[in-house]
Amino acid sequence: MASQLTTPASVPGRFGPYGGRYVPETLMVPLLELERVYEQAKSDSVFQTKFNDLLKNFVGRPTPLQFADRLTQHLGGPRIYLKREDLLHTGAHKINNAIGQGLLAVQMGKPRIVAETGAGQHGVASATVAAHLGLECVVYMGTEDMERQALNVSRMRMLGAQVVGVDSGSRTLKDAINEAMRDWVTNVRTTHYLLGSVLGAHPYPTMVRDFHSCIGREARAQILAAEKRLPTHLMACVGGGSNAIGLFHEFLKDSEVKLIGIEAGGRGNGLGEHAARLAAAQGFTGARPGVLQGTYTYVLQTEDGQIATTHSVSAGLDYPAIGPEHAWLADQRRAEYSAVTDAAALDAARTLARIEGIIPALESAHAIAGLIERVPKFFKNDLVIVNLSGRGDKDMATYSRSLSL
Ligand SMILES: *Cc1c(COP(=O)(O)O)cnc(C)c1O
Repeated sequence: MASQLTTPASVPGRFGPYGGRYVPETLMVPLLELERVYEQAKSDSVFQTKFNDLLKNFVGRPTPLQFADRLTQHLGGPRIYLKREDLLHTGAHKINNAIGQGLLAVQMGKPRIVAETGAGQHGVASATVAAHLGLECVVYMGTEDMERQALNVSRMRMLGAQVVGVDSGSRTLKDAINEAMRDWVTNVRTTHYLLGSVLGAHPYPTMVRDFHSCIGREARAQILAAEKRLPTHLMACVGGGSNAIGLFHEFLKDSEVKLIGIEAGGRGNGLGEHAARLAAAQGFTGARPGVLQGTYTYVLQTEDGQIATTHSVSAGLDYPAIGPEHAWLADQRRAEYSAVTDAAALDAARTLARIEGIIPALESAHAIAGLIERVPKFFKNDLVIVNLSGRGDKDMATYSRSLSL
């Protein structure tokens, strides 16, 4: 099956056999329009100037690359740097992409955006950008996530967005995406779908990656300035995979730089207990290639091909599929993926808070946990950049409960 779907790498929107555009006919027109407008924007100096100005003055780029002195001492392993995406406006990397797509909506003359959200960070980023650019904004969110992320629901409403609870399926991100796509199909003339990760049909995985690639471009210049050499390892948590690919992209051609994605291992490796799609070596064997929400990629599924339920303590990593470019990087062994448990992530969050004075988002805490678990495998002169994708304010209720604060 997979080999039949293989197409040359030059086909736009394909990463080896993965990616593509598996959508109903009604969505082909807006997807082609989006692709065309995005391709034009890439070489449009007016668009690029506006984008870069907003990233600098509204979002707060460039973010620091901080040497984690005390964490380096504490772990006694490699030199550790943190890419501080948690310091961005709204508290996570998601706004890089939201700004880019918001500007494209304006460019297409669409006054309304719809978005899905899991942890609420993408909803907040979308609502923020919509307010800033004068667009109407509707955010779909699973009711389970609305409970877990009540603070972000209030933030979106404060910003003037309409938050619509989705009560179907597992009441999480996958179900919110279904509803957002339904809305888009119905209102396609006036509405842009502001997708929040490197998922969905072409051009989303490529476009969202490009909007986040500033993370890796900055990190590369910053590490070269600080250490006069490239890093040996890059680490990032992987939900859909946007913060990870944003960091990795600029280093893909440097084969000596190891790329490591950390997935949500949840509370065990049984199907339904985790959201690890590419960590088969650790016994997470539930994912096979398949089509979900417009793209061909690794999907957690049952024997007969039903989408599996997932679990993670972190709402932002709780999705049954992974971005198609990660599927391809994993197949080619250009990047490696492993999973850490809920408990390890919670523990890592406390460690980072107490040693560096930074409370990370639960998603980012997975990357820190992955780093900690890997310490015995590193050499002393290894140089690691960990992407700190977001800050932990939204997760304080979970931290309070789970860490008995
Ligand atoms: C949404 C989110 C993630 C996961 O999404 P990716 O597309 O995998 O980056 C990670 N960290 C934070 C802080 C998030 O809000």
